[in-house]
This record gives sequence, structure tokens and C-alpha cells, in this order.
Amino acid sequence: MERTNYNGELRLQDVGKKVKLVGWVSTRRNLGAIEFIDLRDNTGLVQLTIQDSSKVPDVRNEYVIAVEGVVAKKEQPNPKLDSGEVEVLVSSLTIVNKAENPPFIIADKTDALEDTRLQYRYLDLRRPVMLNNLRTRAKIVKLTHEYLDANRFLEVETPILNIATPEGARDYLVPSRLHHGSFYALPQSPQLFKQLLMIGGIERYYQIARCFRDEDLRADRQPEFTQIDVETSFMDQDQVLSLAEGMIAKYFKEIVGYEVTLPLRRMNYWDAMDNYGSDKPDTRYELYLHDLKAVLEKSSFEGFKGARYIKGLVIPGYAEKTSRKALDELQLEAKKFNLKGVLSLKFVNGALEGSFTKFLDEETQKALIASLGLKNGDLLLFASSPYRRDIDFGLGALRIRYAKELGLVKPGTYDLLWVVNFPMFDKIEGTENQYTAEHHPFTRPRDEDLPKLDSDPESVLAYAYDIIINGYEAGGGTLRIYDHDTQWKIFRLLGLSEEEVAHKFGWFIDAFKYGVPPHAGFALGLDRVAMILCGTDNIRDVEAFPKNLHFSRLYEALPLNAPISIAYFGDRNPG
Ligand code: ASP
Repeated sequence: MERTNYNGELRLQDVGKKVKLVGWVSTRRNLGAIEFIDLRDNTGLVQLTIQDSSKVPDVRNEYVIAVEGVVAKKEQPNPKLDSGEVEVLVSSLTIVNKAENPPFIIADKTDALEDTRLQYRYLDLRRPVMLNNLRTRAKIVKLTHEYLDANRFLEVETPILNIATPEGARDYLVPSRLHHGSFYALPQSPQLFKQLLMIGGIERYYQIARCFRDEDLRADRQPEFTQIDVETSFMDQDQVLSLAEGMIAKYFKEIVGYEVTLPLRRMNYWDAMDNYGSDKPDTRYELYLHDLKAVLEKSSFEGFKGARYIKGLVIPGYAEKTSRKALDELQLEAKKFNLKGVLSLKFVNGALEGSFTKFLDEETQKALIASLGLKNGDLLLFASSPYRRDIDFGLGALRIRYAKELGLVKPGTYDLLWVVNFPMFDKIEGTENQYTAEHHPFTRPRDEDLPKLDSDPESVLAYAYDIIINGYEAGGGTLRIYDHDTQWKIFRLLGLSEEEVAHKFGWFIDAFKYGVPPHAGFALGLDRVAMILCGTDNIRDVEAFPKNLHFSRLYEALPLNAPISIAYFGDRNPG
């Protein structure tokens, strides 16, 4: 179709030009004899003015039309539109296609339910905010190419039909037609392939990689997602972190105009857990977890006798705002983190209040008030647990919840940091010495911790790092093991037998015999980074066709006996 200009780009300098425009009818208004139509295309809106409304055919919202006309200066500019200083005086209008009345209004502000938006995603995508989100996402990819190309990285694709790559989630499986009864796994990440590329001498690899993990959905998680996946040889941890943060700083600068101060600060994993109750701490607000073991073990409360961990969280000024019911509801939350419950005390008129005071003598009360620096009106929540991570994660979840309620997070602020020195292993609760890998089994233990692999694996820390932005894990990576013996040791500690290793990773482990360079890498979650830069907390807003929480409607999995022409199994495949 002939089109001379894009609607949202018309400006004063175009006044007097004859133009041909196309697009969707956004709104139509009638002012006596004059008719106004806002015409939308992917650049925005322009106002069309038709002097004689009797000549306007019956156009309605979302009709596709083509018009011809002349650009004129608007007497009363519309500051809400980029093209608001001009209008187009229409001489001809053709209806290209009609549209039914859409189920919701096509505008940035919408009260449509998300399920409705997903069902009619093609209409939802006409909302400028959604198009902008997709543009931001595409810009991140473009900046990535620029940055990594300039740093000598080579883009390489790796297979989608694989044998499993361990990243801690379940695999999606695809039945094989040729090898009847066998399955491929979709990649949770290109982890093993990118390591093989290093062994293959590529030295610097990247890929905008699709990954698939069969996990529960969350506001910030989708089962299929995209990673900016990077691997490099011959770089130490500082070099890798500086490479990654340079790229992130570029996104922030060029997309939201924010100067990130480099180098980013680094926080040890256990400091993050102890103080913020999270391995992805939102450090935009000052609300910390406190160790109360020394004070509260002196209480007469039976539940605290011999407790390994007793910790608390002070919610400033909340004593009078909370209700019995709200505190009761916290118990449910606590249970999600394996805590028996959450206790509370209020500090009002210079004294502690609450049924727990009966377990505290005067001296302990004083010590508690002093150690926490309690102020009138503060609410103290506290709990105990035999497990460090349970108590940290439990109170950490409350920290986030109250920060939201108290409005401690200022919109439009950013905080970026690295969490480093993760533990190598996660002990499987309730077992004597069974472990899972905190990252993945190819992560390198810190040199100084190697001797502890046999004696005290739980305390071994790894060269592992996560980049945290506003409390989201935006990405992470590790230095990799590059010697055969350590790799085998780790497999053994993870309880894998020789047969299992040979079966699962034989193809990978064999390569360790042929000169492996020291290598390392990281992956950024493109969707999460886009989400943060678009200022939304819903990952589905930065994907064209995401899954909703129950995978329903458009993007539903098909039943195996679905009457479709794509065959699932060899014997149903006509070809
Ligand atoms: N493959 C890792 C992940 O997906 C990232 C890395 O270690 O490079 O989390």
C-alpha cells in the first residue's frame, strides 16, 4: 500500500505536505459538521480532520483505513500526542478492513483482566505501552550484539533437541520419531554446549538463547524464556564481572538514561542471607534481619530452648497499624518457609506489649529493646528454626511484604549489585550427607576451599555470582571446573555413580581429556532485564505471547490424542 509517512512522526516541518497514511481508527469524535479521527500506526497517533462529516463513511474503532490529505498546523496543539502540533486535513478516506467492537479499549490504561488481554493478545499488542515494551526488549538484544561484537565475542547457535542439561528444573521432553521410544530434552540452558565451545577453541561465545524449564510460573518467571548467554576462556572472575556489568550499564544508559556506577558492589551470599533474608536482596530500602539468639535464648519460652537460629525483623511504626487477624495470617506465610510460626511484640509507650512478654524477664526485655534500638510504635516479628536458610528466607519474605506495604520502594529507582561466594552445595534437608549443586555441577569451588571438599562440603564456597537488580535475579554465572579430577569429585559428592555420569555427561566429560582452557560465563535473563527496564513487575508484559498462570487458552498444551496433523509419534507420521 502506498504510504508517504508514519502517523506518529508528523511534525510542524511537514505542514503543507500531501500525505498518504494508513492505520487503525483509535477514536472518532464529531463536532457538528467536522469529524475527527485519531489514526494509529506503530509510531503513534495523528489527528485526521474531515471538514464535512457527511462525507465520512461509517468507520468505527479499530477499522483499518487509508487516507490522503494535507498536513496543517493545529490551532490548539495537543500536548498529549507527539504529532500534536499538526493535523491532517483529509481529502479521501478508504475503508481497508472492518473490525468488530473490541472487548477492551485499546489504550495504555486498561482495566481488562490479564486473561482477556492474553486471549486477544493481538489487540493487547496494539496498546502503545505493549509495543514499547517489545521495542525495549529488541533494543536490549541490539545493544548486546553491539557490545559483545566489540568485545570479540562470536554468536554461535546450539541445539534445541538435546540430551538433558542440568540447571535444577525439570526438562521438557520431545518424543523422537526416528528413535522410537526415546526422547529429547529441551535445553534448560546451553550450559554444556558453551563449555564445549570453549574446549573447541572458540574462546568467546554468546547466544540469545531460548531456554525451557518445567517449573511453576510466577510473576517473574516463564517456562520458556530467553537468556543472553555468554562464555569466555582465560578470564578470571573480576574480568567476567566487569564484562557483564559493562553490558548492563550500557542497557541502562541507552534505554532509561541511567548512569550505573561501576564497578558494582559485591555482597557475600551469607551476608545477603543473614541481613536481607534473600540471595537476591532488594537493597533499595533499609530493613534488616537481626540475630536475636543471644538475647532470646534467655527467655523462658520452651520453643526457643536449644533453637539453632532465632532471628527477627523490626517493622518501623507498624505496631498500631497491624491487627490480630493480620498477625494470624502471617502464620500461613511462615509455614510456606517451613517455620513453625512467627511471634510478635509491639513497642508502645516505652514498653514491650504482647503475650510473649510473659516469657521475658525485665532484663531480657531491656536487652531486646536496646539491641534492636526499638522506637515507639515499632512492631517486632521473630521466629526460630533449626535451618539457617529457612529462617532467612522466611523472614526475608516478610521483609519484602512489609516494604511494599510501607511504600519503602520508590518507583523509578535502581539498585544493582553482585551477590558472590555462593555455597557450592545445598544439603538436602533431613539427610546426613546428600547434596545438590547450588548452581550446577560444573561450578568451580574456590581454590582455598578445595581441601574442605572431603571434610566439610557444606562450607565450601564457589566462584559463583548473581547480578541482582531491584531484588530480581537478573542473571548469574560461575567460573567452571576445568580439571578432570575436581569434576569427578563433585559428581561423586552429588551422589552420582560412574555409570550415571557416563550416561548423563559422558559426551561432555570425555572432552576433559583434551586440553580444557580455564573458562567462565554467565547468562542474563533477557525477559527479566526487559521487565526491569520497562518498569513492570509482570514478565508477561515483555513477551509477545507468554503463558498465563494456568497455561490456558491460546497457548495450551495439546492432549496427546489431539486431532492435529503434526504427529507426536513415529507411527502417526505420514512422512
Ligand atoms: N547456565 C547458567 C544458568 O542458566 C548460567 C551460567 O552459569 O553461565 O543459570
